[in-house]
Amino acid sequence: MSLTPQIGIMEITLYESGTSSIVGRDDVLKLSSNENPLGPPPAAVEAITKAAIEVNRYPSTDHAALRDAIAEVYELEASRIICGVGSDEVLQFVTQAFSGEGDEIIYTEHGFSMYPILAHMAGATPVKLPEVERVVDVDIILEAISEKTKIVFIANPANPTGTLVPDAELVRLADGLPAHVILVLDGAYVEFSEGYDGGKTLAATRPNVLMTRTFSKVYGLGGLRIGWGYGPQEMIDVMTRIRQPFNLSGVQLAAAEAAVRDPDWVRDCAKLNAEQRARLTGAMRQLGLACDDSEANFVLVRCVDKAEADAAEQALLNGGIIVRRPTSYGFPEGLRITVGDAEQTGRVIDALTRWREAG
Ligand SMILES: *Cc1c(COP(=O)(O)O)cnc(C)c1O
Repeated sequence: MSLTPQIGIMEITLYESGTSSIVGRDDVLKLSSNENPLGPPPAAVEAITKAAIEVNRYPSTDHAALRDAIAEVYELEASRIICGVGSDEVLQFVTQAFSGEGDEIIYTEHGFSMYPILAHMAGATPVKLPEVERVVDVDIILEAISEKTKIVFIANPANPTGTLVPDAELVRLADGLPAHVILVLDGAYVEFSEGYDGGKTLAATRPNVLMTRTFSKVYGLGGLRIGWGYGPQEMIDVMTRIRQPFNLSGVQLAAAEAAVRDPDWVRDCAKLNAEQRARLTGAMRQLGLACDDSEANFVLVRCVDKAEADAAEQALLNGGIIVRRPTSYGFPEGLRITVGDAEQTGRVIDALTRWREAG
């Protein structure tokens, strides 16, 4: 090729998203992308309809109304919030603003696949560290920090494992990091984990901690692409310089504001998730399929090997159910199953029970 892409770009492996259809079936149940089984919140749908008639207008560039709403509901400082096209864009802001060629970005063994993609986008080097029993390990991270390290990415709860690093361990990590390293706490699944503050205290009090949140999971707005980050003012001000002035449409802003002002929705969805997650986890173990306790809205089932996982996946497909094979996350023997509502969870359990009985 005579065109020369920027350094790192050709190292990027394209992101794989969950599939959504099965040829010849119209009763497909998609449990491959950790989407909300209850759909979008009705208040957000109403706000979208209202905002639609004004799309001839450019949207707000400072996102003031949405940031104020988030600040109010989460008890944060509005000036320290930055909004993006999904939390993915906020992760991109921090990576692009604070790392480049020669720098290292740390993530872990089963960490979210966007982290190495973002590192390469910035021309930095992604460094993948081992976990211990599918949990991020603070000592392993601290040992790997060097002058070159710029960012440490941790999703907590993690995807696809569903495991959580306890608060005290995160504090120990934040305490141990040198001042030139940013700790990013990706809180995409925070609302499903009871008792964890989602990194709020650390992001509020430390000069080098950023937390990110999304409207894609518990808020049921994955198709609309809205997320946000919270961190020290200085860090947010730097990130804002590379944010496009109109990155979020009026429709996105209106939907997110309506959703964030509907805390009952979050509570009800999280409650349903906790019930069905416990039921699914119990049923899987009953069938002899290993899984860790999940703190998120999915369960990572571990078969004995890839062949058994292939068979389990086929049994689910025969039942019209699509789940995610987290092969690229280091689990060829795994199935990541999004927790659905009661009826959907029943379908998963039935399909796998029939498969076990036939096997
Ligand atoms: C789903 C997910 C996100 C959120 O992505 P959006 O861009 O906000 O839709 C971020 N991090 C992890 C680990 C996720 O699984």
